[in-house]
Amino acid sequence: MKPRVGIYGLTSCAGDQLVLLNCEDELLDIVAAVDLRSFVMAQSDPAETELDVAFVEGAVAQLRDLRMLQDIRQRAALLVAIGTCATWGGIPALTGENEVAGAKRRVYGSGIKAKPGFFENLPPTPLSRHVKVDLAVPGCPIEPEQLLTGLASLLHGDLPRLPKYPVCAECKMKENSCLLVRDGAACLGPLTVAGCGARCPSLNRPCMGCRGPIEEANYFAEYRRLMELGHDPKEIRLRLQTFAAPAAALEA
Ligand code: SF4
Ligand code: SF4
Repeated sequence: MKPRVGIYGLTSCAGDQLVLLNCEDELLDIVAAVDLRSFVMAQSDPAETELDVAFVEGAVAQLRDLRMLQDIRQRAALLVAIGTCATWGGIPALTGENEVAGAKRRVYGSGIKAKPGFFENLPPTPLSRHVKVDLAVPGCPIEPEQLLTGLASLLHGDLPRLPKYPVCAECKMKENSCLLVRDGAACLGPLTVAGCGARCPSLNRPCMGCRGPIEEANYFAEYRRLMELGHDPKEIRLRLQTFAAPAAALEA
């Protein structure tokens, strides 16, 4: 029997679901290998049934996200968080708990008339704050190779092995000149989990931390070093929080 799979999006830009749709060379093989029950972005007749694997993108930022996530968790044997919003809160979590009302006003104006229940915002948080997550594949968006190898591993009954080392390791493997050492740039490679092949430093751009932090990321050491290099403390904090605000806040 083919594994029953569902693909879902909570509050997010849907970029991770698009990564899957953009795997054009592999898409037909994927669809043939699984029993795709629900993928609203690509399917007009989703069936919300029991699942072997659910892939969930996005942060929990509204009450309806939470209800949807809890329902998916109840139905799915394995729940995979895809993307940095689902893993760390990502961009939605930049809006802190006390900021939601102000952000709503800035975006929609003060005279907004919404359907009751439409704006039941919650402080944006990663999935693991609410339900058990069996596997987290970070990235903004996720890397197609990690998605495909992850899917292949799951189809064989294994959990994929994802890198735990920082972007700096990939940067060194590419023999890049270090932007932090050479230019004093605010590169977050030392804190950020690898998997992108050090894409940005390889293009002479400092890492923004879009894949979220490594385990035991030493925020304080990076903060202190960037201060020594003359970076503005507010800018450093904003940079550290851009993709993993809940994690950075815990370490502050
Ligand atoms: S450029 Fe950035 S990612 Fe590369 S080694 Fe330096 S700090 Fe690490
Ligand atoms: S180098 Fe950093 S910002 Fe660039 S893709 Fe990799 S993790 Fe994201």
